[in-house]
Amino acid sequence: MITDERIIPISLPTPFAVGDVNIYLIKGEALTLIDAGPKTKEAADVLKNRLSGLGFTLSDIDQVVLTHHHADHVGLLDEFPDGVKIIGHPFNEPYISKNPVFIENQQSFFTYLFKQLGVPVDMGLLSLTVKRSYRFSCQRSLTETILEGSQIDGLEGWRVLETPGHASSHIVLLHEGNGSMIGGDLLLKPSSSNPLLEMPQTSEKRQAPLLDYVASLKRLLELPVRVMFPGHGEKITAIQELIARRLEKQQNRAEEVYRLLAESPQTAFELCRKLFPAVYEKELFLTMSETVGQLDDLESRGRMTSNEKDGILYYCTK
Ligand SMILES: [Zn+2]
Repeated sequence: MITDERIIPISLPTPFAVGDVNIYLIKGEALTLIDAGPKTKEAADVLKNRLSGLGFTLSDIDQVVLTHHHADHVGLLDEFPDGVKIIGHPFNEPYISKNPVFIENQQSFFTYLFKQLGVPVDMGLLSLTVKRSYRFSCQRSLTETILEGSQIDGLEGWRVLETPGHASSHIVLLHEGNGSMIGGDLLLKPSSSNPLLEMPQTSEKRQAPLLDYVASLKRLLELPVRVMFPGHGEKITAIQELIARRLEKQQNRAEEVYRLLAESPQTAFELCRKLFPAVYEKELFLTMSETVGQLDDLESRGRMTSNEKDGILYYCTK
């Protein structure tokens, strides 16, 4: 049985507000790395030094398993030799390969969506935001895909669970034998993990990432997890309490949105400015994702509806 001692955390610096990212080395039949870190020289140096301290080099790693496609988790894939296996949910692929058609489609998708949400869209700025999300990412390809229930060769005892929300590509690994979970960004101690708007990959309609995220958290509540090894921050053992706190905070924010909507019908962008007056300009993508998430939540409970006028959605309470 793999015990916790065989999961070696490696903390790497990132250029993002979230701070360091944790990746994990697991010594099983294969030498597996869970996630790779952002593509910066600093992170590459720290990774190589840590591996060398453990008696390894990058070429000793047999496989890298991705928890999700965000740059702080995948960028350093570019440092690995060609032979390494790269394993993840199929939704990682267009992001980690920087597929140009996909990136172009993302720009059109978000231009359309943000117009609909009432954002005074600056097309140039929007495509810049999309491009920027790739800045510390990589240009690699999955060599194997995993889905709900998959097991990974050389990583005996671990099972893949799909946990969309923070990202549609998000998976976690559960070791049922000892209750360990490699959690990616599903649940973090220092901050809540933001469910982010994405371009849908299998349908025309945009997803509701917050609803997916809440469902993933509720699923986690039911699982026999003793300790979670997260993508950021320290190990989590009081998992149920933390989930309860996160769910409560989300509900409070949905109530806040409901109260604002009860005053007058408005666009998602108008709501976003009221909810996040200090940061909405700098963090437009993040704060709009959060706002739309609460609207999706209220709509799913039948408490809110929307009317379209000249291509813009106006939300009101029901
Ligand atoms: Zn992430």
